Amino acid sequence: MSRTLLVRLLAGIPFLLISWIGYTQSQKQPPQLTINKVKDDLYEIEGDVGNVAVYITSEGVILVDDKFEQDYEQIVAKVKSVTSQPIKYILSTHHHSDHSGGNTKFSSTVEIISTANARANIVTHKQSNAAPNMVPARVVFTEETAVFLGGKEVRARYFGRGHTNGDAIIYFPALRTLHTGDLMAGKTPLIDYPGGGSVVEWTKTLDAAMKLDFDTVIPGHGPVTDKAGLLAYRNNVEKLRNRAAGLIREAAARTAFGPACSCCRLQRHARLIAGIAGWKPGWKPAPRRIL
Ligand SMILES: [Zn+2]
Repeated sequence: MSRTLLVRLLAGIPFLLISWIGYTQSQKQPPQLTINKVKDDLYEIEGDVGNVAVYITSEGVILVDDKFEQDYEQIVAKVKSVTSQPIKYILSTHHHSDHSGGNTKFSSTVEIISTANARANIVTHKQSNAAPNMVPARVVFTEETAVFLGGKEVRARYFGRGHTNGDAIIYFPALRTLHTGDLMAGKTPLIDYPGGGSVVEWTKTLDAAMKLDFDTVIPGHGPVTDKAGLLAYRNNVEKLRNRAAGLIREAAARTAFGPACSCCRLQRHARLIAGIAGWKPGWKPAPRRIL
């Protein structure tokens, strides 16, 4: 997507789409990271966008995500500040470089696990502004996997499309805690359509995750929250989707009654949404496809 199009879209329809591009710009001076205790042996590292979870066991540490490559040294230092155990596994939530960019440095000593789609998205360089040397996971799964280490268990589940087509939700059953990756990220849903994201599937994906037994949520971005916070986010996704659908239906109705008006702001916005969602120029409303 061109920058011009992005700016127009975000200016006209402030609730949707692709802001992750801004998240994923690499920075020369990485911000200072902070590590915060979530529960018992579970910590989270914040700063420089994507949130990292740190789970300490007697046989090593399991991370969820590893930020950008530039954050490697700080992540290692933060983990050392709370345990002498080595990092053994990284469960990766998705392919964006603010969550998987650190793979490049961790992969020589740590086993990295992701969904098959997340790996494919790295291999095919779906994120155009990611570093060309990003390293994908060696171990992948399609529906569910788990790591058992030091008597503790961490599960990774793929419930369906949302932010991308390869988002894993990481579940710490003993701590009743989720790491959602960017299926929950800040306040506004960020949809990576080139990366297979789906605003339609997103709510179904979160509905499936909501059935898990948990009370604490580490989002992909933003502060730690709870089950009610995730439900509110899910409802926000639905509200925004319905608003987009309404825009498209209204624009389609106007088209049906006359030729396109070049100054019709509503119609222009609907065309932008349709284009980003993969509809072809000269589109016709196709509500079954995405909305
Ligand atoms: Zn992302």
